[in-house]
Amino acid sequence: MELNNDLSVAIFDIETTDFWADTGFMLCACVKFLGNRTIYTFRIDEYPRYEKDRTNDKRAVSDLAKLLRRADYLSGWYSFGFDLKFINTRLLYHNLPLLRYDNHIDLWKQARKRLKLKSNRLVNVERALDLDHNKTPLDPRVWQRAIAGHKYRGMNDVVKHCKCDIKTTEDAYYRLLPTAYGYPNRNLVTGNFDACPYCGHTKYINYGKRYNKVSTVQIYQCKSCGGTFSGKPQTVKNVEIRPQ
Ligand SMILES: [Zn+2]
Repeated sequence: MELNNDLSVAIFDIETTDFWADTGFMLCACVKFLGNRTIYTFRIDEYPRYEKDRTNDKRAVSDLAKLLRRADYLSGWYSFGFDLKFINTRLLYHNLPLLRYDNHIDLWKQARKRLKLKSNRLVNVERALDLDHNKTPLDPRVWQRAIAGHKYRGMNDVVKHCKCDIKTTEDAYYRLLPTAYGYPNRNLVTGNFDACPYCGHTKYINYGKRYNKVSTVQIYQCKSCGGTFSGKPQTVKNVEIRPQ
């Protein structure tokens, strides 16, 4: 599926040494803007000060945040629950400006809210929805070696793993579009309200009506992503609401 690029959405994922941002630090991060082929990577072992202090993620976190600030929306898998909070904790620790909390699409939340999967972990969703790009499980020894600063069977593998997650997450973004929970309205950016608010496609069909107390609302379904959305409510005149 092709989305227009008027709304820039950054898919991102980070790999860390620990679940907690006060006892751990960031090892690497990957960012991909929807519809763009480039995957940006930030790894702490590529910064000059790494050899002096292998726990210093300041420059990597700072550069990551600079790139993420360029996006209108951020999206990831459990990224509101983990990645965003982890990054902001590290930014705060380094006395750097934080990322916004209000422009976020956490796809894990979408799956949890609108689907019924046995597990909402990305590896299970990938299998259940037959998403592209296999997520490769990493040997715990590789994590240990990455934390200790080894590139071979260490950081290189962790970065590769992170890139795979980004591709799977991007696929999940498209696949979950018709669940239409928490996605921003693209039409507000393009100014074209005669289009699907989720993917911007201009072909849609009538999909029944919703009847409120004094108005009816036409529901539409997008022919591209399958998402449903509503038109303006039409107020019905002379409607008498009887007391219950
Ligand atoms: Zn659509």
